[in-house]
Amino acid sequence: MQDIKELSLKALEKKILFWGYPQYYTQSIFDWIYQKQVYDFSRMSNLPAPLRKILAEHFSALSLRLVKQQESSDGTRKLLFELEDKGLVEAVSIPMGSYRTGCISSQVGCKFGCSFCASAVKGFKRNLTAVEILDQVLYLKQVSLYPALSDRPVRASAQRLQLTHIVFMGTGEPLDNYDNVLSAIRLLNSPDAFNIGARRITISTCGIIPGIKKLAQEDLQIELSISLHSPDDKIRSKLMPVNNKYPLSGLIESCRGYINKTNRQITFEYILIKGINADLADAQSLVRLLKDLRLAKVNLIPANPVAELKILPPQKGQINAFKALLVKSGLPVTLRKERGQDIDASCGQLRLKYGKN
Ligand code: SAH
Repeated sequence: MQDIKELSLKALEKKILFWGYPQYYTQSIFDWIYQKQVYDFSRMSNLPAPLRKILAEHFSALSLRLVKQQESSDGTRKLLFELEDKGLVEAVSIPMGSYRTGCISSQVGCKFGCSFCASAVKGFKRNLTAVEILDQVLYLKQVSLYPALSDRPVRASAQRLQLTHIVFMGTGEPLDNYDNVLSAIRLLNSPDAFNIGARRITISTCGIIPGIKKLAQEDLQIELSISLHSPDDKIRSKLMPVNNKYPLSGLIESCRGYINKTNRQITFEYILIKGINADLADAQSLVRLLKDLRLAKVNLIPANPVAELKILPPQKGQINAFKALLVKSGLPVTLRKERGQDIDASCGQLRLKYGKN
């Protein structure tokens, strides 16, 4: 059965007219789904009963079933969903002060096998559809309706904050599921549907060059993050096998092209991993690699420990020294506080580490 959220307002309008009803019902249906979070057509009380029945016969409205939740003492909440084919995906709600950010997945599993990332452990299953991507956001929006099963004291107010920002930093590689991710973004951004500003939507990529080039042509004001993690091809290839296919020189060139075309800043994510990429010499090469990019920023992330992968963050002093060197060289840099660490142990891939943008 087709999910109704695959239809734009215009496309649904056509169907409504075809069934002999006035087109203004279309906006009501959109309001029920996107504003009131009602997915049961029989409860759309301002529609005529026969129309509710027709809708139920033709469409479904939710593709995910919430199966588990964990809540951290800082208010970060992780949701686990089951898909129709029993695959599992995660999304996270992160309170950020006056608003919440939703961290969502784009694929079931991941094929890129980064050595520090827990989502590599179970391999790749399939792409998510646009609707499955959007349904994570629908749940995140109404997260306060689902009491978390937590024995920890939790700031209840955290879940009532408005969900205003979305990051594709959950499981999977968004630029490897390009068309579905872009359709989802267009609906997230659409004033008729989710109405989330493009500048509040972030795609994070491990560095798929053709995807970056294509994205530059989309005329979208979204944020782009590159998971860089090393300025050295040898080390980066070890950490991220995708670097063998798309090495640093080509990656940086595609970023330069992206910046020139869009005039938008790119954030380079850099996980600091003890003994691997956190020396001052690494910081110096990082500066050399990025210094010619007109609009580049570095986001340093102390690695989240992943027990199965023997990944650890460096000492505080080393992290601060690394950051200080970047600051001194004039490269814009932020150091992200880890969020929801106490619920992250079993996951290790939903990083929760980005900031305001
Ligand atoms: N495939 C995309 C989207 C996933 S984003 C990408 O690679 O960007 C997930 C983010 O979490 C990435 O920045 C990734 O590098 C980071 N991450 C994965 N494992 C981590 C760990 N152990 N500690 C900190 N960050 C991690």
